[in-house]
Amino acid sequence: MGIPYETLADKNKRYLWHPFTQMKEYVADDPVIIESGQGRKLRDVNGNEYWDGVSSIWLNVHGHRVPELDRAIQEQLGKIAHSTLLGMANVPAILLAEQLVRISPPGLNKVFYSDSGAEAVEIAVKMAFQYWQHKGRPEKKMFVTMREAYHGDTIGAVSVGAIDLYHKAFSPLLFPAYRAPYPYEYRSPHGKRCAEACLEETEALLREKAHEIAALIVEPVVQGASGIIVMPDGYMRKIRELCDRYEVLLIADEVAVGFGRTGRMFACEHDGITPDLMAVAKGITGGYLPLAATLATDQVYEAFLGEYAEKKTFFHGHSYTGNQLGCAVALANLQLMQDTRLVEEVARKAERVAERLAKLYERKHVGDIRQKGLMVGIELVKDKATKEEFPWEERIGVRVCRRCRELGMLLRPLGNVIVFMPPLASTDEELDGMLDILEQAILDVTEGGIA
Ligand SMILES: *Cc1c(COP(=O)(O)O)cnc(C)c1O
Repeated sequence: MGIPYETLADKNKRYLWHPFTQMKEYVADDPVIIESGQGRKLRDVNGNEYWDGVSSIWLNVHGHRVPELDRAIQEQLGKIAHSTLLGMANVPAILLAEQLVRISPPGLNKVFYSDSGAEAVEIAVKMAFQYWQHKGRPEKKMFVTMREAYHGDTIGAVSVGAIDLYHKAFSPLLFPAYRAPYPYEYRSPHGKRCAEACLEETEALLREKAHEIAALIVEPVVQGASGIIVMPDGYMRKIRELCDRYEVLLIADEVAVGFGRTGRMFACEHDGITPDLMAVAKGITGGYLPLAATLATDQVYEAFLGEYAEKKTFFHGHSYTGNQLGCAVALANLQLMQDTRLVEEVARKAERVAERLAKLYERKHVGDIRQKGLMVGIELVKDKATKEEFPWEERIGVRVCRRCRELGMLLRPLGNVIVFMPPLASTDEELDGMLDILEQAILDVTEGGIA
């Protein structure tokens, strides 16, 4: 027998402070306490099973307790858990860097490791900033982000973030950034001309300010935390062209969309573009261990080369950079993705999911359904005709996800947007099981009067 639920719940309440969680509300409720997982399911200490419907917050690729991944960590543990990457190398860090370069958009040839998406973004920001110093153009020091962007929670990443709810409180601590629009057609005043209008605004900003801008940072193809907003096809190509025309580096934050999530290995591939810097994390280890990387072009990398005394060194690094266990499981993750043709499978499964989701449009309170690959956002609205939002106090997203939990799936909403991001290896039958619960929960809460 394990430790009783009540004991754990009490200790959880006493000692833990949870991320992105109003603790006052949380401690008044019965927490889910996970004990184990298997495949696409999680199991709590009371023996209840749930689908992992958001991949443990957008991370998980193959599922839980995947033999190939478990074995990779065990084998690495038989050799060493960690040694530093400061001035020396290790075997899995080298081999993983080679694989990352192989699968990334052509031209990204150098890999700089870190431990989380926020760090990978900060590193890209610092590299872009210092790149222009090395190029003799130190006046290019500003950044352009996109409205409602999310790039992580450390101060540098928050500085290029633009979700007021999360970021506004910290504004005195942040460096300033220009904000370009993200093409969000459903709520755009420009309707079908949304993308065009956004590009015009972005170009106007660059035309005026490019002389002082180091880089533009974007969540390519899907803006995640703002509510799964999907760009129209070709938009990233236009952004790449603008950055080229105005000599601004392009930073692609592929932390959420990378590693097959959108039906391509990286989202930039949809438009066939290569950013100057690319941040990856989340799916890199299959959802097993904290590892992240910033990939750079030769052009960026070479700007940092010089004699020791020139001090062009990139003075940045974290204690666990290039951790062997993380790199070993990431290598196994990539191998398994290849062996199971996972990315092609995601594209295929996404079409099936889209067919089922299309039926949801008939529901009274489903305003918009946005999907790219196995990344889905369902925006619930109070009034479909006017697109009037549900008031924040109604907590509609929280209530739908609570109902999902009762029905056997764990989700986490973004305001009034229900996010569905199943592990990429979920089978057709598993996806059907998850979608049954999703539809039922939306119906129960928005039309069935379930609190
Ligand atoms: C999750 C996320 C991050 C932050 O990654 P962490 O590992 O949580 O620090 C950055 N950018 C995007 C687009 C994300 O979705």
